[in-house]
Amino acid sequence: MNSGKWKIVGYVLLFAAFLTPGPAHGQEEHKAQSKPRVVLFGINGAEWDIIKPLLLRGEMPNLARVIERGVSGKMRTISAPNCPKIYSIFETSTPPQENGITGFLVHGATANTSMLRTQPLWSLLSQNGVSVGMANVPATFPAKPVNGYMISGMLTRGKDCEDGVLCSPKVSEVTRGDAVYPRSMVQELEKNVGDFHIDCARMPEAKDLPGHEVATVYSWLAQVTKIREEQRRLFDYLLANHPTDFTFFVQSCEDRVGHWLYPIQPYNVGYNSKVHTIQVNAFPDQYRAMDKVLGTILRHVDENTVLMIISDHGIKPLREGESHAAHMDHGGTTPIIAKHDFEDGDDVPGVFIAMGPGIKKGVRVTGLPMSVFDIAPTILHFYGIAQPPQMQGRVLTEIFEDAGTGVTTSASAPD
Ligand SMILES: [Zn+2]
Repeated sequence: MNSGKWKIVGYVLLFAAFLTPGPAHGQEEHKAQSKPRVVLFGINGAEWDIIKPLLLRGEMPNLARVIERGVSGKMRTISAPNCPKIYSIFETSTPPQENGITGFLVHGATANTSMLRTQPLWSLLSQNGVSVGMANVPATFPAKPVNGYMISGMLTRGKDCEDGVLCSPKVSEVTRGDAVYPRSMVQELEKNVGDFHIDCARMPEAKDLPGHEVATVYSWLAQVTKIREEQRRLFDYLLANHPTDFTFFVQSCEDRVGHWLYPIQPYNVGYNSKVHTIQVNAFPDQYRAMDKVLGTILRHVDENTVLMIISDHGIKPLREGESHAAHMDHGGTTPIIAKHDFEDGDDVPGVFIAMGPGIKKGVRVTGLPMSVFDIAPTILHFYGIAQPPQMQGRVLTEIFEDAGTGVTTSASAPD
């Protein structure tokens, strides 16, 4: 079970350096002050096709501000992308077959952190004295020890959660592992943020829809709005009260709403006038709401902070010959109108946006030179940590004003 060597080494170092009070503690704290600050914000399935018209209409002012002050472009994903696969690539820069997270289900069991076979970013950063804060990142359950905190995300297990199927437990409903590291933080969060949901709401099931379409769409969207606000408050609280060198937050409601209520015209595969005429703004509304969450995050981002906004893939309407009845990744019980697990990953590129010290301003990267494999090496680069040989991505040198040579003042970085 505990086959990965990195785990043993990582935990020993972690416990020695950070979890045991000792004379080195103050020194580490002092060192931490001079480290770069990086905030990574993941938006599941963020799709440029939806974002661009909203930007043009001035309906995503916060995102517009970041794009204007930074570098933006598409991000290449892999074939048949889905959240657990790609978030595990973000963290390991290794393909699913190597890092062990090949989908929602791995050998019949829900993807989880104990299955990771290559060392993830949060472990590498922790080992190197970088403080780490994470919340709602997919496939990070059970939460593992880090030099900071970790609050799990999509695929957290709770009561009535079937294997490999999306679920949305509250913190108090989590079973089969810890959703929060350190455990002592649970009480603090429940007191200050409330008993929040770990993931966005699960989509309604096909069998519950006939005759109840309007009520189901509205009540489901109300739940989505409630969860997004819980997550916004969580992020706000964490950034204000537990600042870390590296922070990684994720929201998942965009993807969920897109699968079900992508605003497209009739004659597309899966179009159902009983469902798709009820709330035609549901999907773009998610981006308007996400922009407000970004506004909250931006209140904690100063001129010395790097902010990166990424998505694991985009999402597009179904095409001729594709079934709307089954979408196994999300349980296979919800009728969908859009998806992302197309065989050609280049059909559904993700989003990459970065701004901060040393990063080019107002630059758009064209084509698909930036890949989901490049996130971990680029984050390591900020902290001057050498890229481990198993990582297959590269440092995104083209985003830096000085081609990536002088971003960090600590140890030299790989190129
Ligand atoms: Zn999805």
